[in-house]
Amino acid sequence: MSAVLELRDVWKVYPGSPPVESIRGIDLTVHGGELTAVVGPSGSGKSTLLNLATGLDRPTSGSIRIAGEPTARLSDRRLAGLRAYRIGVVFQQFHLLPHLSALDNVATGLLYRGVPAGRRRVAAAEALDRVGLTHRAHQRARTLSGGEQQRVAIARALIGQPPIVFADEPTGNLDSANGAEVLLLLHRLNADGTTIVVITHSDEVAEAARRRITLRDGLVAHDTGSTS
Ligand code: ADP
Ligand code: MG
Repeated sequence: MSAVLELRDVWKVYPGSPPVESIRGIDLTVHGGELTAVVGPSGSGKSTLLNLATGLDRPTSGSIRIAGEPTARLSDRRLAGLRAYRIGVVFQQFHLLPHLSALDNVATGLLYRGVPAGRRRVAAAEALDRVGLTHRAHQRARTLSGGEQQRVAIARALIGQPPIVFADEPTGNLDSANGAEVLLLLHRLNADGTTIVVITHSDEVAEAARRRITLRDGLVAHDTGSTS
């Protein structure tokens, strides 16, 4: 399988006295089809890595390729475009619009691609079906259970069929039953071919992933290795 994410000697240093070396020379390749968990203690650089890998932030040095595209020379606008087309992100706090329906929330996943509203809604219905929530399509997001809200957020991340989906503590705000359901869903989507990187504190989530990368002090301390 081809590489969908490549980091080469990536550093992120926040200025200050002393400067904070948040990521200190990470080399990492994620291949298409993988389900990878990134774990590590608080302060080890997980959020920084996520921000770099999703193009939300830029490294101090080193190179990053997202879906084969080197990001260093892209303007902010082109980088935002890369984010809109190549990356799906699922957050711990769901970040849904509470007064919109599940369907309309999912449709917002295509907003930055300039897809007309009618086509957005058709695609949203398909994405909701993939997460098993067709029966909730017209319910407002705030009336859904936490597990359902996270599944809506996953559908929103999937709607544009990005080559890679990142999930940041996707079960962190859920009780164990809903967390288990979301974990099962991530595995099912991966089995269908979606490449997933999940950042997690949960042993259950980490142990279920085929590949585990452990960060410590801004470095990869352990990597169970590529699986594709
Ligand atoms: P994690 O998500 O694993 O808890 P982070 O990536 O948030 O770790 O942080 C890694 C290190 O970088 C920490 O020491 C943190 O204090 C520091 N850090 C993160 N963001 C900033 C920032 N914007 N400015 C300065 N230091 C930061
Ligand atoms: Mg963090």
